[in-house]
Amino acid sequence: TLALEVRDLVKRYPTGTEALKGVSLDIREGEFFGLLGPNGAGKSTLIHCTTGLASPTSGTIRVFGHDAVTHYVDARAAVGLAPQELNIDWFLTLEETLDYHGGYFGMPRKERRARAKELLEAFSLTEKKDERTRTLSGGMKRRLILARALMHRPRLLILDEPTAGVDVELRLELWQYVRRINEEGTTVLLTTHYLEEAELLCDRIAFINGGEIVAEGTSEQLAAHY
Ligand code: ADP
Ligand code: ADP
Repeated sequence: TLALEVRDLVKRYPTGTEALKGVSLDIREGEFFGLLGPNGAGKSTLIHCTTGLASPTSGTIRVFGHDAVTHYVDARAAVGLAPQELNIDWFLTLEETLDYHGGYFGMPRKERRARAKELLEAFSLTEKKDERTRTLSGGMKRRLILARALMHRPRLLILDEPTAGVDVELRLELWQYVRRINEEGTTVLLTTHYLEEAELLCDRIAFINGGEIVAEGTSEQLAAHY
């Protein structure tokens, strides 16, 4: 089964903008896949269609075989999303943040507690677990977003421009975390507009521009083309 199977995806917004003009792509289980493109290329729209935040005009998306429209709940449960915007509830503690998210995905209380503990440890956040999220540094907020995305053990992690507007030092730190997540078996889809980031992290890269995939391959294959 493919982790993500996108076929002839078209998304036209009510404004008339055609953000995706027939996109097809496959992500294999275990891959670290990069979707590279400039602002306005259609990256967020593709993610929104995958996670049910937007409905495709035509075409299909399957997440581990589950149709993102007709089997929305199963598709969504298979996806962990680390959104670009830091959409954290600033009044919750770190532990509560993870616990809420696990609850949303139907995890039993005991399992939520164990999983939260494990993730706080993995992302070096244990010391802060009872503090409110608003007290965290920028790097810790980003790490919490990763931990939250992984809480319900998704098989596909989607990272939407995880290092946009992040300084060099923090970017290096985040790269180490996301690489480890992939090495431990989670399939990753990363969107970025940094070529360097895609080349460094990804097994395969697709270039998207103007709502179309204009090139696809390993970074070596793409380098040979351009
Ligand atoms: P990216 O994530 O690559 O920057 P987006 O998917 O956000 O690209 O945007 C693709 C195109 O769709 C852009 O032209 C953008 O202005 C437009 N767009 C995105 N969201 C909406 C929306 N909700 N309504 C209308 N147009 C939108
Ligand atoms: P939004 O922040 O756009 O209102 P939702 O209310 O749908 O998003 O989601 C609630 C929380 O769950 C958010 O923190 C969001 O990042 C996260 N989330 C949304 N979709 C998914 C998904 N498919 N997998 C994991 N987390 C998700």
